[in-house]
Amino acid sequence: MDQADPVVASPPSVGDMPSEEFRVQAEAAVDWVADYLRSVGELPVLARVRPGEIRSALPPEAPEDGEPFDAILEDFRSTILPGITHWNHPAFFAWFANTGSGPGIIAEFLAAALNSNAMVWKSSPAGTELEIHVAEWVRRLLGLPEGFEGTINDTASHSTLYALGAAREVAFPGVRETGLSGLPQGRIYTSEEAHSSVEKAVMALGLGRGGVRRIPTDPDFRMRPDLLEAAILEDVGGGVRPVAVVATVGTTSTTSVDPVAQVAELCRRHGVWLHVDAAYAGVTAMLPELRHHFDGWEQADSIVFNPHKWLFTPMDCSLLYCRRPEALAEAFSLTPEYLRTREQGSARNLMDSGVALGRRFRALKLWFVLRYFGAEGVRERVREHIRLARRVAERVEAAPGWEMSAPVPFATAVFRFAPRGVVPEEQDRMNLQIMEEVNGSGEVFLSHTKVLERVVLRLSVGNLRTREEHVDRAWILLSGAAKGLARRMAAD
Ligand code: PLP
Repeated sequence: MDQADPVVASPPSVGDMPSEEFRVQAEAAVDWVADYLRSVGELPVLARVRPGEIRSALPPEAPEDGEPFDAILEDFRSTILPGITHWNHPAFFAWFANTGSGPGIIAEFLAAALNSNAMVWKSSPAGTELEIHVAEWVRRLLGLPEGFEGTINDTASHSTLYALGAAREVAFPGVRETGLSGLPQGRIYTSEEAHSSVEKAVMALGLGRGGVRRIPTDPDFRMRPDLLEAAILEDVGGGVRPVAVVATVGTTSTTSVDPVAQVAELCRRHGVWLHVDAAYAGVTAMLPELRHHFDGWEQADSIVFNPHKWLFTPMDCSLLYCRRPEALAEAFSLTPEYLRTREQGSARNLMDSGVALGRRFRALKLWFVLRYFGAEGVRERVREHIRLARRVAERVEAAPGWEMSAPVPFATAVFRFAPRGVVPEEQDRMNLQIMEEVNGSGEVFLSHTKVLERVVLRLSVGNLRTREEHVDRAWILLSGAAKGLARRMAAD
């Protein structure tokens, strides 16, 4: 390697990147990240590429010989960046907006350097103990009682899969040994508004899609406990075995809140596992004024909450709390000889809580985030996001032709342009057109869903860089697009 100019050096013939070169390149990367985070709001939030465009710009074969690092960074800028939809953009309002915050990004960098793998305690004592400890911190912040044991998975989809795997083991003891063949049909109950990850988990657990019963909701999109009970009783009468109920606090389309206390009481009476999906809204349990949404969740058997959604932690970080960790272990614990250690029994081995053996050091970023912002700092930022979403809702409510499609309990406004005299199908097309036009501006990005079969738009605030000016601009673009569309239609 040319020591005088490590930036343009080719890789050495053996070993890793030399530390001097690492220092120079990492500093360049840090400079890039700092500039990126400062000016990301000036980039088009939505990637402006067509499907296949990024791949066609890449060589078909991996390089035979190593390349200089600055060439790699240059291609990152010129080829990869145009294909990025910027989740860290202040006007990213689609799906559930989130933040990969500064402290979280730095922790990811350090975690990558450590490259630790907390399969068993011995393979990463700090990784194991920090995960358990940070989960405890968050449990306390969320106001959950002792007894909920937390672990960190990549996504809520996996957390829910593991929770329902434990529920399946409880409903069919020994099923891990025998499989489901010859057993009665097992059933999971969840609302019509629940996330698709519930259905995917049921598929993966071998219960078949018929193993899910979607319970209708009330006018505020909340699971109806009376219909849930009727479904359970009907199933039991028909020889079907109830396995679990999944209640949601903050559903994906409308952020509705199931009546968890009533559902929990029902689960208790019928001896059914209760899993609460608070993947999105969980952080708001830290806010005394929103605690009522979580009434009864302390009676759940398991709970999922994603810090990577609204607790400023970079992807991926999903907390699974389980009040019956022995059931989780019964479902998933399996220790081959090569993973036996002397500490077995005296320390927790995190591999026992799910399917994955390898475990990234995800706790580090959550620890950094919690320490840097502090609990009160988190609460204040979450409150600000809620205020901004409600500001949009106020604009919508005051605008002729527009209507809110659901209440705004958290920081996601759901609304639609529904001018009088236009049939609903045409209104659907108009809303999609408005969204396309607004997203095409590159200034903001929002997404849609269907509520009661009608197309609605969703504006979710969750990025730490979002200010009033960003939500106000979104509203100006939306209302302007609607006016323009209505004018064009009237002229036709
Ligand atoms: N649950 C809810 C309520 C969600 O909104 C989502 C995703 O948006 C999920 C679960 C799945 O989350 P993940 O992407 O972490 O699997």
